[in-house]
Amino acid sequence: MSNKCPRCWGALELLDIDGVKIDRCGSCRGIFLDKYELNRLNALNSEAAECLNDGAAGHSTIQTPDASKKINCLRCSSVMQTVNFSYTSGILIDHCPACESVWLDNGELAKILEFLKASESISEEESASYQNTLNEIKDSANKQKESGFRSISSGGKMGSIVNFVYKMISKVSGE
Ligand SMILES: [Zn+2]
Ligand SMILES: [Zn+2]
Repeated sequence: MSNKCPRCWGALELLDIDGVKIDRCGSCRGIFLDKYELNRLNALNSEAAECLNDGAAGHSTIQTPDASKKINCLRCSSVMQTVNFSYTSGILIDHCPACESVWLDNGELAKILEFLKASESISEEESASYQNTLNEIKDSANKQKESGFRSISSGGKMGSIVNFVYKMISKVSGE
């Protein structure tokens, strides 16, 4: 695995935050996460996240390289693709299609953690409404059974329930 930043070629430092090992560039503060580390992001407390975000604006030693350039995966060297985190978040991150690692530029982790916090509170309400939908589907399935119908569809509603952070990553549409 390369120990140079794929964005600016600065030296990477290995951070251990609550047991999550993260490679971070000392120059541009970008971070590299493999898919296991990514799945553990939710478990990071805000203090730990704060520690990763110490490269806020105004820090003169931090470089801001061109984030629109394609970069290669640190782990497997594949060209990483720009994806929209969780389909609709608007947070564009670099994702390796081969080994499913991600590269987060400075500040992107903070946005993701904020987004996850917000979507967690939504999912509780959502899961309640999905329970109703599920009951309706069961009801109508039973009715259809009685009246001789065989085809049952949830209309794709259940499919939109989000489970894991990782599954929320999709390609940016229109690119
Ligand atoms: Zn860098
Ligand atoms: Zn890779």
